[in-house]
Amino acid sequence: MPALDILCLGEPLAELNETEAGRFTLGCGGDVSNVAIAAARLGARSGVLGAIGDDAFGEALTALWDAEGVDRAHMSVDRDAPTGIYFVTHGPDGHRFSYRRAGSAASLVGPDRILAEAIAATRILHASGISQAISTTAADGVFAALAKARDAGVVVSYDTNLRLKLWPLARARATIREALTLTDVALPGLDDAALLFGVEDPDAICDAVLALGPKVVALTLGAHGCLVATPERRERIAAHPVRAVDATGAGDAFDGAFLTSYLEGRDPFAAARRANVSAALSTRGYGAIPPLPRRTELDAEITR
Ligand code: ADP
Repeated sequence: MPALDILCLGEPLAELNETEAGRFTLGCGGDVSNVAIAAARLGARSGVLGAIGDDAFGEALTALWDAEGVDRAHMSVDRDAPTGIYFVTHGPDGHRFSYRRAGSAASLVGPDRILAEAIAATRILHASGISQAISTTAADGVFAALAKARDAGVVVSYDTNLRLKLWPLARARATIREALTLTDVALPGLDDAALLFGVEDPDAICDAVLALGPKVVALTLGAHGCLVATPERRERIAAHPVRAVDATGAGDAFDGAFLTSYLEGRDPFAAARRANVSAALSTRGYGAIPPLPRRTELDAEITR
């Protein structure tokens, strides 16, 4: 019996999001942590692997994971490095600026701290480009995790999540392309993928991703839904109609729902149709985590 069904690897972040003009809220973020929570709400057993600091932000993340039922047995609490923090400002003109705390505990998680047993006990390992952008040590740590997952026959899922402000495009391109050669299920967003591959047409992007080795690509297209491709077949899925107010974390919501559905035995096209509805529901409220749907809500929306 595996200890975990989905293990998300990367940097947990405490995020400060503006949710309405003039109002600020403190929230927990971190893309792979969001994916783990999205999956847990839909009934998957999920966990996080990485490091946080022994500080108030680490405590907030710990409380969140406990409340959401996300396993944190492999999240180490470091005494000498702080929890990662993003401080995000949104100007009245729509300008967005973010500051990242350097030297976070997660940025120090290198290959020596990647536990093969933890990875081998899962069925899917999910990682993202942001986890690799934070430091070369963390980039190597993610590569070690992907390699260990492959050795153990664990499905590897990867979301490009480029965040170009964190690293130069040339390094991002080289690292993410290499990660995709170790990936089974690729879950890129259109804007990232267009920058990575230098093409904007969704079909051409799927071709480029499949050429690197993944067996499945689900390319998210924001308010235009998604395009799912395997070497044999592809399907364009229109966005599920909702009254969207904030698409923050919609890609993470998609990933968590896709991986949960895939684990339950659905084919990639059926998994993406479900993820497309789940991600749409996540845009109906502010922030990445509060509006993530629970399983009953998703099932009700699908059968509506
Ligand atoms: P990312 O956060 O990675 O940029 P996207 O913006 O592509 O991700 O959104 C991910 C998914 O969320 C889309 O594929 C779609 O299923 C859903 N989604 C995003 N915006 C909307 C919207 N306005 N209406 C309905 N669904 C949406």
